Amino acid sequence: MWLRKTMTVAAFLCAVAGGTNMAAADDSKPEYALVIHGGAGTITRDKLTPELEADIRATLNEALSTGQTILSSGGTALDAITATIQVLENSPHFNAGKGAVFTAEGKNELDSSIMDGSDLNAGAVSGVTNVKNPITLARAVMEKSVHVMLQGPGAEKFADENGIERADDAYFYTEYRWNQLQDAKAKQKGPILDHDGKKHSSVEDITNGDYKFGTVGAVARDKHGNLAAGTSTGGMTNKSHGRVGDAPIIGAGTYANNESCAVSATGHGEYFIRATVARNICALMEYAGLSLEDAANRVVKDQLVKMGGDGGIIAVDKDGNTVMPFNTPGMFRGRVTSVMDAEVAIYED
Ligand code: ASP
Repeated sequence: MWLRKTMTVAAFLCAVAGGTNMAAADDSKPEYALVIHGGAGTITRDKLTPELEADIRATLNEALSTGQTILSSGGTALDAITATIQVLENSPHFNAGKGAVFTAEGKNELDSSIMDGSDLNAGAVSGVTNVKNPITLARAVMEKSVHVMLQGPGAEKFADENGIERADDAYFYTEYRWNQLQDAKAKQKGPILDHDGKKHSSVEDITNGDYKFGTVGAVARDKHGNLAAGTSTGGMTNKSHGRVGDAPIIGAGTYANNESCAVSATGHGEYFIRATVARNICALMEYAGLSLEDAANRVVKDQLVKMGGDGGIIAVDKDGNTVMPFNTPGMFRGRVTSVMDAEVAIYED
C-alpha cells in the first residue's frame, strides 16, 4: 500500500473517490512551526518612524530565521525557542534583556520562563538584574535544578554556579527606556499600578496611552511533534520593587503541553495572572474540545476584554496550527512554518 506517511485514511479514501481537498489540506499540515512576539500595546503607525519600524521588522525576521534553521534541520522546539528569544533579548528594541524597562527605583529587573510540552517540565526566574539572557537561565533552572522558579539574588547565584553569562547595569540601559520612566513618573504620582488608589487601573490610564509593552516570546512545534513555549521581559515601566508579572509564571505567561498547545503571552501581567491565560487556552482545547483559534479568541478577546486586561498571545497547537490574537492596537509578531514563508506584522491590519 503506497499510503503516504502524512496522509490519513480519510484523506486517502477521499482522494481515491476523486476528492482532492482533504489530501491537499493534509499536504499543507506543517512539519514544524514557530511563532514569535515582541510585545503588544498602543503600537500605531504614528508612533514608529519608518527607520525604527524597518529595524524592528529586520530583528523579528532574524529571530524567525534563527529558530527556523534549528527546526528545519530536525532540532528541538526547546532549542528553537531558546535561540529565537535570545535574538530578541539581545535587541535594544524590545523590553527583555538589553533594552528592558526600568522599575520605579531605576533598575532593570527581569522575568522569564520556559516550558517543555513533552514532559511538562518548566523553569522560571524572576527579578534578576544582571543576567544577559534570562531565557537561558530559566532553561538552566528547568534542566539543572529540582525547582521550577528561582528569584532575585538566589537566581543569580544559580546563574554563576552554572556558568550563565552575566552583564553589568550599563549593558541593559537604553535612553528610550530611561526617558519612558521619567515620563511615567511625571504623569503619575504613585506606583504604576496603584497611582490612584485603584488596584487594577489600566496602563493606558497611567501613562496617557503612551506606554508600549515589549515583552518577547516564542512558541514552536518541532518535527518530532514536541511543543515548547518561552517568554522574557523587563516587566512594566515604573513597576514597584518586588513586582512580578505573568511572564515567569507557568500557566499565566507561558504554557506548553504536547496534548494541546504552547502559548506565550504579553500584556498587562496582573490580568494575565488572574486569568491564567496560557494554561486556560490549552485547557479549553484539552477539556472543552475547542480549536486553537476558538480557545485563544475566547481568552484574549472575550475573557480578558471583560476584565480590562490589555495584551495578546501567540500559540501553536499539536498539529502545527498557529494563532496570534491581541486586543490592543498592535502587537509585534511573526511566524514561519515548514509550508509557509516567514511573515512579520505589527499593526492590526
Ligand atoms: N506581561 C508583562 C508584565 O506584565 C509586560 C509585557 O507583556 O510587556 O510583566
